[in-house]
Amino acid sequence: MREHWYEQASEEERLAAECVVDWNAPEMRCPACLHQFATGPRECPNCGLFLG
Ligand SMILES: [Zn+2]
Repeated sequence: MREHWYEQASEEERLAAECVVDWNAPEMRCPACLHQFATGPRECPNCGLFLG
């Protein structure tokens, strides 16, 4: 799943995700609005950005 998303993501999105999204961490931070939330949802609960 992650690889599939990775293929389709733009380089910009990849860089942002690499820096910010860690699916193994208990919490993650939205690269768009910097809202921090428990890892799990595929969309930011604050701004709705699709994360993967
Ligand atoms: Zn957000």
